[in-house]
Parts: sequence; C-alpha cells; structure tokens
Amino acid sequence: MTFAATVLTLYPAMFPGPLGTALAGRALGTQWTLDPVDIRDSATDRHRSVDDTPAGGGPGMVMRADVLARAIDTCGGTGPRLLMSPRGRPFDQGLARTLASGPGVTIVCGRFEGVDERVIERRGLTEVSIGDYILSGGEIGAMAVLDAIVRLLPGVMGNAASADEESFADGLLEHPQYTRPAQWEDAPIPEVLMSGDHGKIAAWRRAARLRLTAARRPDLFERRTPGEPAK
Ligand code: SAH
Repeated sequence: MTFAATVLTLYPAMFPGPLGTALAGRALGTQWTLDPVDIRDSATDRHRSVDDTPAGGGPGMVMRADVLARAIDTCGGTGPRLLMSPRGRPFDQGLARTLASGPGVTIVCGRFEGVDERVIERRGLTEVSIGDYILSGGEIGAMAVLDAIVRLLPGVMGNAASADEESFADGLLEHPQYTRPAQWEDAPIPEVLMSGDHGKIAAWRRAARLRLTAARRPDLFERRTPGEPAK
C-alpha cells in the first residue's frame, strides 16, 4: 500500500526538497507519494489574493477561509487533515506512528499570521506544532512530519529492528553509540560493548538509557514504560 501525502502550500516549489533525497527520496513514488498543491490556484479574484488584513486590526495578514477551503475541498487528499500551527498538539513519535499506519495525510501549511479560524473549524483541521518557536511558514514543519512518518512505512528502513530500539520507541532516549576504531585519541569504546556478552550489553544500554533520560528529559522519565526501577 502506498502512503499518499498531500501538502497545501503557497510555495509548492519547496517540495519535495529534502524529502527527495536519501531514505525518504528513495521511497518516494513507491512506498509513498507526495502531491504539493498550490493554494493560490484556488484564488478567484484578478489578483489571485490568498490573504487579507486581520479583522479587528493588528499587524500582518491572515490566510483567507474561502480560498483555503476551496483548496482543501478540491485537492483530492486523503487521511487526517493537519494544519501546521504553533498552537497545535506537539508532534511526537506516537503521532508519527498513528499517521504512518493510515492511508495518508493532508497537511496545510500556514503563512503570514496564520489562517482564518473558521476554516480550521469547518474543515476539521487538527493543529500540529513541531515545537515552541515560530517558523515563517508551515512547510518546514510539514517536511519534518512527513520525514518522521515515511521512515516508519513498511519497507522504507533497511533494518526494521532499529525503529524499535531508537529514542522514544519505549519512552526513553537512546543509549550512546560507538563504532570502530576501538581506540580513538585517548578514548576507548566502553569495554562491555567489546565483550560479546549480549546480556551484559543489553543491561548496560538499558542503564545508560535510563540515566540519560532521567538527566536530560525528566518529563519523559516520569512517563516511561512502567516496571523499570529508577537507576
Ligand atoms: N501568528 C502565529 C504564527 C504564524 S507563523 C502565532 O503567533 O501563533 C506562520 C505559519 O508558520 C503558521 O501558520 C504555521 O503554519 C507555521 N508555523 C510556525 N511555527 C510553527 C511551529 N512551531 N509548528 C508548526 N507550524 C508552525
């Protein structure tokens, strides 16, 4: 099954951009498709305007409900409808997994001061944020969301097991990684990793993940999969 991504944007030329290279790029056209839709094509006036001044006054411009709704209604997109928005639900690995298990996603990229509230309500857009900072538009956020989804699609990642072990898979950050040379500057690879004792290695990694998560992300540590003693 091919995952169908539709992105509504004022800058369709930004796509596929980085999603056309490496892992996501190799899977593009087979495991997933990407359809960038120019919101401006849904404008009807002579100037093809997509925005107007905010009702009630204030700086900047707001994307028009009528133009955006027409773009949504005619884009042919499937799956949940997301709106990239700093007010949204924080995007996380759980949401990436949920979306990756569906038929596709339709992502609206805001610009200017944002979009008319009525189109969010009437078209059932789920607002999704990629972090507590303000970007100039939703496109880079949409790319982050799509990248996280695409690598989870069946057949995209070479080693499927690696998805189960990496950060967030069980609510913990990843353990430190090492590779050859075994001795670099005055730093050896930790001895246990060279021991060949798989039980000891698993225990060392588990302890490292707990220690790192407790130190760096106490919020994640509190919510970790229950049954693990604090180290
Ligand atoms: N005035 C708005 C910010 C608008 S930024 C506010 O204060 O909330 C313009 C567009 O960029 C937004 O409509 C949204 O689509 C996108 N954007 C900006 N920051 C984002 C973030 N952290 N996550 C997701 N999308 C973001």
